[in-house]
Amino acid sequence: MSSTSSAIEVHGLLKSYPNHVAVAGIDLEVKSGEIFALLGPNGAGKTTTVEILEGYRSRDGGSISVLGVDPANTDVRAWRNRIGIVLQSTKDAADLTVEEVISHFAGYYSNPKDVDQVITAVGLIEKRKAKGEQLSGGQRRRLDVALGILGNPELLFLDEPTTGFDPEARRAFWDLIRQLKNDGTTILMTTHYLDEAEALADRLAVMINGKILEVSTPALLGGRARAKARVSWSENGKSNLELTDAPTDFVNQLSSRIGGEIQDLSVSRPNLEDIYLEMIGEKV
Ligand code: ATP
Repeated sequence: MSSTSSAIEVHGLLKSYPNHVAVAGIDLEVKSGEIFALLGPNGAGKTTTVEILEGYRSRDGGSISVLGVDPANTDVRAWRNRIGIVLQSTKDAADLTVEEVISHFAGYYSNPKDVDQVITAVGLIEKRKAKGEQLSGGQRRRLDVALGILGNPELLFLDEPTTGFDPEARRAFWDLIRQLKNDGTTILMTTHYLDEAEALADRLAVMINGKILEVSTPALLGGRARAKARVSWSENGKSNLELTDAPTDFVNQLSSRIGGEIQDLSVSRPNLEDIYLEMIGEKV
């Protein structure tokens, strides 16, 4: 089933917990070298799917190929050497320093990155001598990311990687992920941040109630490219909104009619979050 152009292939994946179908027969393909984002509301089945792909959960049905092998019955050590994982939950190494934890885990890999380089890449240089218990939530998360990339993975799983990051750290993390992609790493990530998906993902899938609603690119998801522009302005103390396919014409006419500065004028297209929220049935 595996092919050289696919890092991950999933057909008809099924997983149920008692009284609950978490993954209801999904198909998914992640191409080699791409960043693929899995989006969806809480409980959609993202983590279950990703953990099955990582070999940490069993499945009830369907076929899976991850880097050419089935994670359910593979030689764990050799295969794990080729993948990197950043789990949602933080790992427990509270009494070791950042440097010690990273050096320790480097020993598990056949081809680890340089420990200093990894510490620099995740922005923990100043905290290298700090113990896990002395790190803030965001710093702890950076340490998780460091452990995920340490083994020079061909395929990296990132489950909500920037939860708890401040905006500056998030931007720095995005640069790091782009660098990994440039180096040839395939990345499958889950995130609740739509700006993150927009900034990083080549393609994305929206998952809800254990099913994939759509697979697309950030630019095209949910018919985004065809969405009307929103022109808003104020007139006589009242806010106005017009949805139009021809915003330039509309603003020209408005300008002629008002005959001067248009108050609070703004022209925008729906962003990825607007489209996503519409797709999953929330009010924008
Ligand atoms: P989030 O965005 O909140 O992380 P998710 O999309 O990752 O959500 P999952 O963690 O995969 O969702 O959970 C999917 C569904 O399966 C949820 O309804 C959850 O309650 C249920 N579930 C997950 N793990 C178990 C388990 N071990 N036992 C029973 N039910 C579970």
